[in-house]
Amino acid sequence: MGKSLCTLAAAALLLGVFSHAAGALTNDAITESNLLFNFTTTTATATTAATTTAPAGTLKWTEAVTVVEEGSDGAAPTTAKTTLSTSTVRDTQLDTKDHSKEREDTNNNSKAEENEEEEEKPELACPPLGLESLRVDDSQIQASSYQRMGLGPHRGRLNIQSGIEDGDLYDGAWCADYKDRQQWLEVDAIHLTLFTGVILQGRNSIWSWDWVESYKVQLSNDSVNWQTCMNGTKEAIFEGNQNPETPVLGLLPVPTLARLIRINPQTWYSNGTICLRAEILGCRVDGPSDPYSSDRDAKDALDFRHHNYKEMRKLMKSVIEECPDITRVYTIGKSYMGLKLYVIEISDNPGTHELGEPEFRYVAGMHGNEALGRELVLNLMQYLCKEYKKGNQRVVRLVTETRIHLLPSMNPDGYEVAYDKGSELAGWAEGRYSFEGIDLNHNFPDLNNIMWNAQEKAGDPSKVPNHYIPIPEYYTKEDAMVAPETRAIISWMQDIPFVLSANLHGGELVVTYPFDCTRDWAPQENTPTADNAFFRWLATVYASTNLVMANPDRRICHYEDFQSHNNIINGGAWHTVPGSMNDFSYLHTNCFEVTVELSCDKFPHVSELPVEWENNKESLLVYMEQVHRGIKGVIRDKVTKKGIADAIIKVEDHDHDIRSAADGDYWRLLNPGEYKVVVWALGYLPSMRQCHVGMEPHATICDFTLTKTPIERLKEIRARGGKIPQDLQLRLRALRIRKLRASTKAINQRRESQRLRTRKARSPGAWTV
Ligand SMILES: [Zn+2]
Repeated sequence: MGKSLCTLAAAALLLGVFSHAAGALTNDAITESNLLFNFTTTTATATTAATTTAPAGTLKWTEAVTVVEEGSDGAAPTTAKTTLSTSTVRDTQLDTKDHSKEREDTNNNSKAEENEEEEEKPELACPPLGLESLRVDDSQIQASSYQRMGLGPHRGRLNIQSGIEDGDLYDGAWCADYKDRQQWLEVDAIHLTLFTGVILQGRNSIWSWDWVESYKVQLSNDSVNWQTCMNGTKEAIFEGNQNPETPVLGLLPVPTLARLIRINPQTWYSNGTICLRAEILGCRVDGPSDPYSSDRDAKDALDFRHHNYKEMRKLMKSVIEECPDITRVYTIGKSYMGLKLYVIEISDNPGTHELGEPEFRYVAGMHGNEALGRELVLNLMQYLCKEYKKGNQRVVRLVTETRIHLLPSMNPDGYEVAYDKGSELAGWAEGRYSFEGIDLNHNFPDLNNIMWNAQEKAGDPSKVPNHYIPIPEYYTKEDAMVAPETRAIISWMQDIPFVLSANLHGGELVVTYPFDCTRDWAPQENTPTADNAFFRWLATVYASTNLVMANPDRRICHYEDFQSHNNIINGGAWHTVPGSMNDFSYLHTNCFEVTVELSCDKFPHVSELPVEWENNKESLLVYMEQVHRGIKGVIRDKVTKKGIADAIIKVEDHDHDIRSAADGDYWRLLNPGEYKVVVWALGYLPSMRQCHVGMEPHATICDFTLTKTPIERLKEIRARGGKIPQDLQLRLRALRIRKLRASTKAINQRRESQRLRTRKARSPGAWTV
């Protein structure tokens, strides 16, 4: 990821904020609270205005450039003592009207929904520079000293995770080599930046506890002369951490223009050393000729911001109002706290399953704090609506030929917890779990071990069911620890014949495919499914089109290098997850599902959202198109021509069957090739045919007509009280003869082996052989 990528949101924000700095030269100083208030307003409005025109702050470019030059020439950073005039505030509020109108509109019936308050949560003064998002390159971070490479300055990034072993290259913080007050971590913003704050976090390690309890901040334009950040006439002392994980925000008493910033620890946890992870808040001051300032905009006019529950609902409502012909919103249940699990359906005939049309789903927000997936799904929903209306052929085709279901928030309770803290202050795990503390991705019934145990017992895996494994009894008991969110998803999966899905997570950059659960409880082991080749294809489709994953120069997120695996990995080979949604989906339903880890940062700052949409847009679209791979068709009764539900579709050399849906239609995802397919249904004779799957991205039609077994026909005729036709009489007679021959043969064989046994027993040397 480039160090100077810039989004329009950020640009708009900068332009707005920049006029503060410009004003600094001419206006009198005003109070700090005013300053913060105004920054807040600018942040909120400028980011929502991201896709409209730039705020009128742009007009102040001449003044702005003057400030940049003065600031960068002098050794000392320039302090922006004042703030924007009220006119600038008004100018930047381009988009707020619409949103305030949205906020008035409520129509909820759930208790939890009624209790929602119209709370404006405090916005950070300026966006993060990107230590966490990796927008800031390793080369931009330096330190006074460090204990060893794995604790080097490049590890001093907010929320960075360490490997299990300390001592490798990837430890969980920057740690100074000395325990004195001369230590610092330095970030070079490269551009002149209005610094507004620091976020500090302790060291991530399972072996040691280290954190910084107080610190000073120093600023410089040339890395030679440093000025300590002041609070009035005294050097400002910032409050740091009290534990290793909780991020603590320290706002500069006065936002200050500079290029470099240092965090200078003063006190630290008494039993530890000086270790920290940090994020820096600052508004970049771009020159008008900056090549990155505007060409990285998302081209789509979507609502790029983090939507809490209420805002999400309103956004969904606005989309169904905009595209009533192709959308429908429904709920699949409620969270523990009573928030509804909303799904938006996008299809040419919303609300109905059309014969032969595959069903697709995206599920996001299973871990509530992994917020990017939620926003991407909301972006996707808006995008599909807008592009369909525009007549974008690719989208029209997708919407016409597919029934798409989007669940942006599987764990809304968890999300609200993380959202209330904010994208930078939620830490690594806050909001991950359901309200009851359940990790939803470990909460599905473990069907893997049921299947593997049955296979072991039977000795021959082909003798036991390899799909549609029933849910075990313990799981259905009332006191079973099953989250309401999980129950809702399971019945949704059972109701709709989904073919393909992806489960959107965050905190890494990799696509994982099942099985997630390893055999024999191995902590890590490649555990492929019978459809390993197709799953690898699916994972590759997403990973190779995601702009960040596909960048060969990208830095690893935390401590694992997935690039050497082309950014895909078998779930079990990464780490075992019993009870995962992917494994359940594969073993209990027809649906193939992978997990996408969308970004290193679980909860990216709002200014990152337009770029993240661009990073994922093609992947999200092309992945959905994979639902049209392999073979599909309808399985019908030869006489009545009616579709046969629950017919089993077996593909030779693929020890995983799938079943036909209620109308007899089926979809079998397969890579290109020649396949021998056998279809079998209760009461019917099996039918076999050869099906060819080409390279083209559309499914091969492979229909089957099944003939009832003679016994089944006989049963039906008898039930009707009808006369048995001659052909059936003949067939039944042939069947009886065949049965008789088979049973005679079996009896003879049994007798023969008995005879051999008795003879052996009589022979005296028999047991010694
Ligand atoms: Zn996750």
